[in-house]
Amino acid sequence: MKKNAFEVACQQLDLVAKELKLKPEVHSILRQPMRELRFTLPVRMDNGKVKIFQGFRVQYNDARGPTKGGIRFHPEETIDTVRALAAWMTWKCAVVDIPYGGAKGGIICNPKEMSKGELERLSRAYIDKLYLTIGSEKDIPAPDVYTNPQIMAWMMDEYSKLKGYNSPGVITGKPLSIGGSLGREDATARGALFTVREAAKYLKLDLSKATVVIQGYGNAGSFMATLTKKLFGSKIVAISDSKGGIYNSKGLDPQAVLEHKKKSGSVIDFPGTKKISNKAILELKVDILCPCALENAITEENAKDIQTKIIAEVANGPTTPEADKILSQKKTFVIPDILCNSGGVVVSYFEWVQNNSGYYWKEKEVCERLDENITNAFTNVLDVSIVRKVNLRLAAYIIAVERVIKAMRIRGWI
Ligand code: GLU
Repeated sequence: MKKNAFEVACQQLDLVAKELKLKPEVHSILRQPMRELRFTLPVRMDNGKVKIFQGFRVQYNDARGPTKGGIRFHPEETIDTVRALAAWMTWKCAVVDIPYGGAKGGIICNPKEMSKGELERLSRAYIDKLYLTIGSEKDIPAPDVYTNPQIMAWMMDEYSKLKGYNSPGVITGKPLSIGGSLGREDATARGALFTVREAAKYLKLDLSKATVVIQGYGNAGSFMATLTKKLFGSKIVAISDSKGGIYNSKGLDPQAVLEHKKKSGSVIDFPGTKKISNKAILELKVDILCPCALENAITEENAKDIQTKIIAEVANGPTTPEADKILSQKKTFVIPDILCNSGGVVVSYFEWVQNNSGYYWKEKEVCERLDENITNAFTNVLDVSIVRKVNLRLAAYIIAVERVIKAMRIRGWI
């Protein structure tokens, strides 16, 4: 059975509450979303019929600033997944010290089966319901699983129409032509790469000789593969997506695999590779395993079979707390999601700063600032984990939760 993502998020918070000996009322505020919105979205489909979709937005905590977080389009979306993702956004923004709270949105739909027109109408319908509670100073959405810059463009346009003026700062991850930032597209992977680089330094692992597995081949996964090979010279030996995996001990060409996926709809059957199951790919004996898909990839069932040195959590919530325990005992170096995949929201923050100031940065500047930000966060997390003798996830949570509590206290909430 798949674990409820919000239960996972609460369990993770409970561990830090115990470690920091939080007062029950403080723990209780942090354990619940501040605001939840749930709505129906009637959309005219191409066949002329109206279909009703369910949409959500959860604004988890805004003590440190306006809430921030992506919108996911997924057939298995639930309010609890959105809650969990909103909580993780809160900790993520705090651990990398950007001035935001956390939020997340979602629509239950299967974008793979929808036309462009249907997706546009659905995206606009979502903003029509939400526009009073989002805004550059309130809550700033962005892309997540199965949403992209085009969808952000429609959403920003709908919001701007309702407001009566152009409002690029309401949403990030936009196309460049309407106020997107250079470097946003591959920011999640690039940020993850910086954490892997720092981990390798600490573990004295030579990245040019490292073997890597990529689970999930969407935006983050495919950039993770291409950039790891390009910048470090590491060997990508296996790649998977929701339909299955491919393996070649001599290494894969990530760009060619991506083109194959674009044409055929999946990485499977890429020439010159062996088939590998989605279970077996996680258990390969490699140096770096990158879960880049959804929650619950590494659980108590498979954690004991994982043989990698480093797990770079590019996805949100890929590891359950039970699996975490097993991995800690095995001394697997897990770079937790709220640190590892924070590059996306860090460059979203840069995009928002650029939108609000009307001055746009060069790509080099974006990448350098991202590196500085993530490397600092990584160093802080590693230091706390060494000093307190806890794993990196708990260390990251300690830093994040302490920052959120500090903001709540100074505001007089607690
Ligand atoms: N969806 C991404 C995440 O989970 C990015 C969020 C954002 O840029 O606001 O971190």
